[in-house]
Amino acid sequence: MINTLETLFQPWLTFYQDPWFWQFPAATLLISNVTFLALALPWTWIAWVDPAPLRKYKIQNKPFQLKQYFLPSLGRLAINNVMMAFMLVLSWPVLQHAGIHTGPLPAWYVIIAQLVFFICLDDFLYYWMHRAMHDNKWLLKHIHSVHHRIRNTCGINGNYMHWVEFVATASLMLIGPILIDAHLTVVFAWVIIRQVEAVDGHAGYDIPWNPLHWLPVYEGPVYHDFHHAKFKGNYAGCLPYLDRFMGNTYIGEYLQYLQAKKRGMNPEQAAQHIAKTRSQHTGRRTRDQGDAPGQPIPVTHSKRS
Ligand SMILES: [Zn+2]
Ligand SMILES: [Zn+2]
Repeated sequence: MINTLETLFQPWLTFYQDPWFWQFPAATLLISNVTFLALALPWTWIAWVDPAPLRKYKIQNKPFQLKQYFLPSLGRLAINNVMMAFMLVLSWPVLQHAGIHTGPLPAWYVIIAQLVFFICLDDFLYYWMHRAMHDNKWLLKHIHSVHHRIRNTCGINGNYMHWVEFVATASLMLIGPILIDAHLTVVFAWVIIRQVEAVDGHAGYDIPWNPLHWLPVYEGPVYHDFHHAKFKGNYAGCLPYLDRFMGNTYIGEYLQYLQAKKRGMNPEQAAQHIAKTRSQHTGRRTRDQGDAPGQPIPVTHSKRS
């Protein structure tokens, strides 16, 4: 009996003796966290200082919820990583047979194609998972609502989420590399890209010289910021086509924001423009349809007093 149990649990008991465990899942988790903190902490410091020259680039004209959520964000990050490490150990008997390898590196153009594939696949899967977490009342109440406690995010809030959501999001990230038996170095590069996206999406600033704006089709931090502010819509991570064309879940005011920026407005002016348009529209509706006065409307960008 004891021998049978030993045989059964052998893969779990000996994971720490396998160098591949430390080179692949453990190293991936470490690189993911180092990248996240290296990018999130400077953005969080900027949000903390709130320098006057950058205020016109704040996406939402209201204070960041830093005092309330800085330490909880670090606490969640720690808990989520412990849970993730535990899940990696649990899944090790399966994971160790994945085709991720350290053989010869593929040509540079193959690496680029693989990374583009990972971004597209991850965004597609994330869109449906994220949407399901909003559509399913149980998931929303018990899991995803944690991430939505923060309506005006800054960098460190990027991984403030329930551990189940953290593990699910991290697992989605590994599907692409496992599907195509990627090289370990390419997996590391992909993990870094994914953390750049996680921090940038929660940075809270839409700064014109942000080099990520040079990337084609990448929507930048405003896209996900509107999701936190409005709560519904803009479910994709960074590629807008799913919200626009597959689910009709695109936030209309986000489109107005983009149009305002095209007309040369900075984020502060764009926010004021949207607020003005909304109040005109609401006033017209109230006159035309007899809406009850004082009916609450979602307010994203309040004018700074
Ligand atoms: Zn959400
Ligand atoms: Zn978020």
